[in-house]
Amino acid sequence: SMSDESVYKVLLLGAPGVGKSALARIFGGVEDGPEAEAAGHTYDRSIVVDGEEASLMVYDIWEQDGGRWLPGHCMAMGDAYVIVYSVTDKGSFEKASELRVQLRRARQTDDVPIILVGNKSDLVRSREVSVDEGRACAVVFDCKFIETSAALHHNVQALFEGVVRQIRLRRDSKEA
Ligand code: GDP
Ligand code: MG
Repeated sequence: SMSDESVYKVLLLGAPGVGKSALARIFGGVEDGPEAEAAGHTYDRSIVVDGEEASLMVYDIWEQDGGRWLPGHCMAMGDAYVIVYSVTDKGSFEKASELRVQLRRARQTDDVPIILVGNKSDLVRSREVSVDEGRACAVVFDCKFIETSAALHHNVQALFEGVVRQIRLRRDSKEA
């Protein structure tokens, strides 16, 4: 297929502390995060998925203290959304559902790809949300689901590859 010239904007959403910045930094290939987290960061990278290159701009800007990015703007600007919760934090799982509802409301007419991410899968003994609960939630909310561990770099590459595939599926069905 033809190579895709556009840069896809991917927004990370989720409660504080779930690992959004950790996931974004792994995507960006940054080992140690910047000291000042307050303003939020963007990470620009091309990855090859299914033999085709894709450029992603990953925005780790949700509810940052810098306050330059309003929630409404975040909800409007993404080509895809990664909604993150921590499997060790039931409250963050409930927050993820709220964000899904908000996003649906903000983007009613768009079939915008959403990936639900249960992060911190390495913390086995403090788990509060099972894989089945995560999967069931994704079914209800009609989105993809993956568990990750930013700490172990587990499934992080797969997550962003999945984002690209979801974007392409919609692009291709629009072209058809
Ligand atoms: P954010 O507020 O969503 O951006 O969360 P951060 O990326 O700042 O992560 C919050 C804390 O959780 C930090 O101390 C991270 O090191 C830690 N953390 C993030 N991801 C993981 C993970 O997959 N496993 C473990 N054990 N800790 C994680
Ligand atoms: Mg952060």
